[in-house]
Amino acid sequence: MNFKELCPARLVVASNRSPYTFRQIGRSMKAERAIGGLVAAVEPALCFLGGIWIGWSGRPQHQPERMAVPPDDPKYELQFVALSNDEINRYYEGFANGALWPLCHYALDKCDFSREHWQVYAAVNQKFAAAILQELRPQDVVWIHDYHLALVPQFVRTGAPGVRIAYFWHIPFPSVDLFRALPWRRDVLRGLLNSDLIGFHTETYVRNFLDCAETILNVPVDRERGLVTLGNRAVKVRALPLGIDVAYCQQLASSPEMQAKAETIRRALKSEIVALGVERLDYTKGILERMWAVERLLEKYPDLRHRFSLLQIAAPSRTKVSEYRRLKRLVDETIGRINGRFAQLDWAPITYFYKAIPRAELTAYYQAADMALVIPLRDGMNLVAKEYVASRTNDEGIIILSEFAGVAEEFEQEAILVNPFDIEQVAEAIKQAIDMEPSERRQRMHRLREKVKRHDLTWWLRRILREIASLSESRVVVESNVMRHRAP
Ligand code: UDP
Repeated sequence: MNFKELCPARLVVASNRSPYTFRQIGRSMKAERAIGGLVAAVEPALCFLGGIWIGWSGRPQHQPERMAVPPDDPKYELQFVALSNDEINRYYEGFANGALWPLCHYALDKCDFSREHWQVYAAVNQKFAAAILQELRPQDVVWIHDYHLALVPQFVRTGAPGVRIAYFWHIPFPSVDLFRALPWRRDVLRGLLNSDLIGFHTETYVRNFLDCAETILNVPVDRERGLVTLGNRAVKVRALPLGIDVAYCQQLASSPEMQAKAETIRRALKSEIVALGVERLDYTKGILERMWAVERLLEKYPDLRHRFSLLQIAAPSRTKVSEYRRLKRLVDETIGRINGRFAQLDWAPITYFYKAIPRAELTAYYQAADMALVIPLRDGMNLVAKEYVASRTNDEGIIILSEFAGVAEEFEQEAILVNPFDIEQVAEAIKQAIDMEPSERRQRMHRLREKVKRHDLTWWLRRILREIASLSESRVVVESNVMRHRAP
């Protein structure tokens, strides 16, 4: 894949977290690649096009300031932004994860709109922008990621008015009625609209964002062409659903090691039917709702006791935020209660891991499960659903999917769609999946696999880089239109 043909520019990428963290081992420093969708999605582009990635190391005291990565075959530079404990508390935990995250996931009751947190958020965004400006060379493209850095485009634009800026928003963008609750709604929108391109996972998020721009900022919006006009600048707003590295998933899925591990998992669970839940322990993921649905299923269909079990993997996340600690307690209690109610000597309805499983190893869990229960209350995309599909190389398996996950826009025909707030419906969907003709399940899974293959990570990167490469042209067009309009 030659991305250079699509986009000849060097990239300056910025995200809250840097793609590598460092661990002191004896006297030397070991670089560890961060897990998660963002790094997997963006690193290939940087490796091809070259450039720099600016981010926080994830620790209050970062170690080296700059280094070339990947460590074994350096292709681009890494520049760390240093953050103090106070900045981490207010910018990262306070505003990004305590206000924007719950707001964008429709959890208004969990939002803490603290003015102090907002001020530190703005100051840290300025810090990131200063780091970007220091690195900028002529013809570079700046590519900013996610809700932590919404004001960065504006600060960068002020320092370098002609620079091309692309932004990708990885979480849902809420409807205008909800977004209006944010006291700094105009600042956030204006910050973002200093980009030339803003990408979202789905058409719904694009629509919501355009509604917000029109209603809250009162600026012209062209829905057909996906454009917002601000003075003499046109901002492209696009749905660019993130894909996964399907070839990597398939390679893992066909390895004898993973297949043997999947067998071991099946044997250990001692159940005829295994459902799987995998996610960070987050209140947006519908973990409690999933437990309640399993409880309802076993209440309603006693013959499934001993035959059905749920394997729940919950990776620790944001453990310093009180809301997450509270959820952990609730999940522990709920699983304990349900297992206490139904377990028998040789079977438990729920097997629960509170730990992160390495990405490669997850493949064995994907392969061991007859169904994936992906029922977030809101989710920007949900890569786990795509990974489950890509790992089902024999076309067996089915997904029960929340209509509020971004991926539902792609999977709505083939998955069993549910409203995760309707516990009875989720329980019935599990029963429907169990009772479905194997041939129908296979057909659905086959079609899903084709979709995931067609719209994989390379497809996403090609689309987004093509959009980025065309940015300079569209800006010229708008500027000349404005001039023509103004001519006497
Ligand atoms: N993941 C992992 N180990 C775990 C749990 C999750 O490697 O124990 C990975 C998973 O394979 C996926 C990502 O973390 O690539 C989660 O992405 P998703 O879009 O589903 O949710 P997010 O965490 O970004 O909200």
